[in-house]
Amino acid sequence: MSEQCHKAYITTPIYYVNDIPHIGHAYTTIIADTLAIYSRMAGLETFFLTGTDEHGQKIEEAAKKRGKSPQEYADEISGRFKALWDEFGITYDKFIRTTDPEHKKGVQAAFLKMVEKGDIYKDVYRGHYCISCEAFFTETQLVDGEFCPECGKPTSVVEEESYFFRLSKYQEPLLQWYREHEKCILPKTRRNEVMRFVEGGLEDLSITRTSFDWGVKLPEEMNDPKHVMYVWLDALMNYLTALGYGGDEKLMDFWPARVHLIGKDILRFHAVYWPAFLMSLDLPLPHHVAAHGWWTRNGEKMSKSKGNVINPKEVADAYGLENFRYFMLREVPFGGDGDFSQKALIDRINSDLGNDLGNLLNRLIGMSGKYSAGKISSEKVEEHYTEELAEVHASMEKLEPLLFDMQLHRYLEELWKPLSIANKAIDTYQPWVMMKDGREEQALALLGLIANILAKVAVMLHPVMPRTTEKIAKALGFEIDNAAYVKLVKEGALLDPFTIEKIPPLFPRIEEVRMQEFTPGAPEAEATENKPEKKKEKASEPVEGLITIDQFFETQLKVGTIVEAEEVPKSKKLLLLQVDLGEEKPRQIIAGIKEWYGPTDLVDTQVCVVANLKPAKLMGMLSEGMILAAKDEDGLALIRPEKPKKAGTPIG
Ligand SMILES: [Zn+2]
Repeated sequence: MSEQCHKAYITTPIYYVNDIPHIGHAYTTIIADTLAIYSRMAGLETFFLTGTDEHGQKIEEAAKKRGKSPQEYADEISGRFKALWDEFGITYDKFIRTTDPEHKKGVQAAFLKMVEKGDIYKDVYRGHYCISCEAFFTETQLVDGEFCPECGKPTSVVEEESYFFRLSKYQEPLLQWYREHEKCILPKTRRNEVMRFVEGGLEDLSITRTSFDWGVKLPEEMNDPKHVMYVWLDALMNYLTALGYGGDEKLMDFWPARVHLIGKDILRFHAVYWPAFLMSLDLPLPHHVAAHGWWTRNGEKMSKSKGNVINPKEVADAYGLENFRYFMLREVPFGGDGDFSQKALIDRINSDLGNDLGNLLNRLIGMSGKYSAGKISSEKVEEHYTEELAEVHASMEKLEPLLFDMQLHRYLEELWKPLSIANKAIDTYQPWVMMKDGREEQALALLGLIANILAKVAVMLHPVMPRTTEKIAKALGFEIDNAAYVKLVKEGALLDPFTIEKIPPLFPRIEEVRMQEFTPGAPEAEATENKPEKKKEKASEPVEGLITIDQFFETQLKVGTIVEAEEVPKSKKLLLLQVDLGEEKPRQIIAGIKEWYGPTDLVDTQVCVVANLKPAKLMGMLSEGMILAAKDEDGLALIRPEKPKKAGTPIG
């Protein structure tokens, strides 16, 4: 930890509301949450910020497509992020939205300050713009002279009046910052990348637009109402406006940030533009900008079109939120790309959590019940197990720097060493033998050693698995708080005598995958290969066409609202429907119902949809679901909910 030891300001990026929360968002947020919980436990004054980025052309267009105002649309998606973090118990201190009036005021104040500083001027911008990435690229950066180097979509040439930020002026000061602060960008390999980029020369940055409206207007003093701020100036400023910059500045003493956690795709903005903006505002620079990598699924890139995007809530529901937290932080070296597979997750749960941690507690409960009616004392531990205790304390001391250097996987690896010391001690000393051959004192002291190891590990694991470790602590007769942290970890003291509480196993063994691997469009053979368990189940199924409840739920039925309907050209039977299932965008479904329903009958009505049907092409168009209907000699009727239900409500 550096200069400013008593405060910890920790941020996630503000998430852009053109997307619903996926595993990448959950990963960043859970890392930030872990750091925040740790900081509070360690007695630092902590402020943990997350939120949503809601301005820009992409949002304006997405809202228009759905017949909503940008604000309505932003409210909806922002609400989903907040709801998920609340459900996950994320301990943020503030959830900022860039549409908050205080934020807009703060951004305008910053703009004026930069003008005063002589860092902003007006000119004409001509560049290749990618709407999707909201970024400009120079001719040489484009792929094949036309396509966006980030997302591959076509760019367009834009020429417009714009205000510019003198980024070029900060080239040298930025390089100096990178050189003097070895850990300003984490992992360190990323710092080298950024330095090379900046050494290549910085061009001034266009920071306003006249081509769209949905953004923060320039301050009135500028007298130039047709300009709105370029989204990145607006977005980055959230880290200051959340502390009251340009308004009620009572939280500004949390600045500078201890760490800005980000994904590696937005490193340039955070490691180049942001510190330059801060220098222009005469503010100190953050301690760390820490960029993590991507997640793949079963070795494949995730994408909406492949249908293999991981919904973090689904994983948490299936395997337990805290197990999922542990897995994400333990599985991947920070900064590297990680792969999610249910097998890897199950291995971590059964092995690290179940065998190493959970079983140790169970063995302690069992043995102490037998040998001492559950009573455990630390009194003779140091006398009999000096070496073990010294090793445990050596591990404990290595932990904190690993955490603040974002070496989270190594933190957890190191934290597991005391557990293996404890497990090994049981196997080596065999307390059941000691009890038989008259070495009762040593046997009971061994129980004391194990209890203390579990207690210390529980404290340091607390930021990653808050609820689970509270249960462990309760069983061991203490509570996890700053006092426990100071006593058990910092001072290396031992537990007071206590009577252990019997608790049910914390990590019941997981025998098979709990989430269906759904890979639409994948060849049949591959799809069945992925789920041998399912096959086995079917083989042992009872006869007569009965299915289990689990088999029924393999079919995902959902309520959908038809938002658009039109005839399919040259087809007598088919209608082309856009059906809202509460997902990021409506599903396109081709339905053979034209003989009975016209497009106008259908818009704004609800239907029941098979939501996990493998997409199919009909008349050259993709159909991403099936609508339920019943047909007899009188014709066809759609199956609908009896009362209106929210789009996407599951049926079953
Ligand atoms: Zn792009």
